[in-house]
Amino acid sequence: MPATQSSNPVAFQKCIGIECGATYSVDEVHVACPQCGDLLDVCYDWARATPPASLSQLEQAWARRSDPLEFSGVWRFRNLLPFASREQIVTVGEGQTLLQRSDSVADYVQLGSGRLFLQYEGMNPSGSFKDNGMSAAFTHARGVGATRAACASTGNTSASLAMYSATTRLMQSIIFIGSGKISYGKLSQALDYGALTIQIVGDFDDAMQRVQQVSRDLGIYLVNSVNPFRLEGQKTIMFRVLEALRWEVPDWIVVPGGNLGNSSAFGKAFAELRDLGLINRLPRLAVINAAGANTLYELFERRGLRWNGGRADMSIAQQYYAELDAAKRKASTLASAIEINRPVNLRKCLRALETCNGVVREVTDQEILDAKARVGAGGIGCEPASAASVAGAKRLRAEGIISESDRVVCILTGHQLKDPDVTVAYHSSDRERFERVLGQRGVTAAPFSNRPIAVANDLQEIIRAIEARR
Ligand SMILES: *Cc1c(COP(=O)(O)O)cnc(C)c1O
Ligand SMILES: [Zn+2]
Repeated sequence: MPATQSSNPVAFQKCIGIECGATYSVDEVHVACPQCGDLLDVCYDWARATPPASLSQLEQAWARRSDPLEFSGVWRFRNLLPFASREQIVTVGEGQTLLQRSDSVADYVQLGSGRLFLQYEGMNPSGSFKDNGMSAAFTHARGVGATRAACASTGNTSASLAMYSATTRLMQSIIFIGSGKISYGKLSQALDYGALTIQIVGDFDDAMQRVQQVSRDLGIYLVNSVNPFRLEGQKTIMFRVLEALRWEVPDWIVVPGGNLGNSSAFGKAFAELRDLGLINRLPRLAVINAAGANTLYELFERRGLRWNGGRADMSIAQQYYAELDAAKRKASTLASAIEINRPVNLRKCLRALETCNGVVREVTDQEILDAKARVGAGGIGCEPASAASVAGAKRLRAEGIISESDRVVCILTGHQLKDPDVTVAYHSSDRERFERVLGQRGVTAAPFSNRPIAVANDLQEIIRAIEARR
């Protein structure tokens, strides 16, 4: 139960280790359990809180959109993440996202019409779902009086941190990135918003280790998804999906897996809704890795690692990481947002997979880029990592695990304009560019490319080029 003297009588932090289960006040800042090193959850004593009596009751917020807390796609669900006082909440209007039915992508995945939906989180203020979590992390950070916040990032966490820091002026932002591992769309955001940017020689996994050390040593507030408050914000993505489906639970939620914060948050969201009696069934969860960064796939599907009611055999993961180190194998995929070999939320994700009877798949960069082109042609567009969800749904459909009549929601985690290099290279007729950007990653073809047509500056030739495409 909650530690004494907490500023919040309802919320507390709790270690996910079932042998430990230590609890801490929400006024404390931890990125791991001080007693055993495991991850922490934010938990609620629901009997002392005021969760909604029904999900449809949440729609009443729509009539009060002039209130910034009701306008926010995160905070209008605040009764389902009651860890902060009203005055403490930080919002910049995140979570104005939409669930779009896409029959063209359904065709591609071989689902029936009206069966596939894209949850477009690229509409967030900084262009990715990370803003859902960042508003929650900033809210907690404000509550504990932090003045500096840091993250390691493949790009979107840093863009989000830098944006919240610039907009709210509550904290200085410090971002750690690996060398050459960040798309220009994302790096340009962090620089533009004025973040202190530290580029270290190494990859994301190296940057992640360093930022944890530096934050500990300097007392800087860490906003990576090891921060349990971030995941509270990310739960609301599922609340909005349900809302858009008129509170009907879909059959599948398909999400790309990198550090596994999102998948963990989704599992927690559904477990809580179930425990509160607000839903009576759970969707299945599919987490999709890139084949070049497939730790979860390897551990869950190949080596049989399971949450096992909290008794996961983590030696399986230790063994795998030792093998990666021995082989000096680094994560490698064009989907840079999920180019991660040591997912920090692995244990929480295993728990989510158990809650939601989940599966894990890996997809190649070729499959990712082809799916991305189909998403773009369907009119929304996304960055490469996001399209892993669609590529994964296609695989699961081909395997018969997703059936034709299932209702499937794929999460599009980031905006189309985050990584234009990859998109232009895919559609380019310039073979040299294709090879340079994509070829080294094993992408050999672009079956859905829309090539620009080069013509001389000549009226007749231009007309001929246009008429030929009628
Ligand atoms: C961060 C990110 C991911 C990975 O999400 P995790 O919660 O780390 O698994 C996927 N796609 C995009 C666009 C991201 O920014
Ligand atoms: Zn513990």
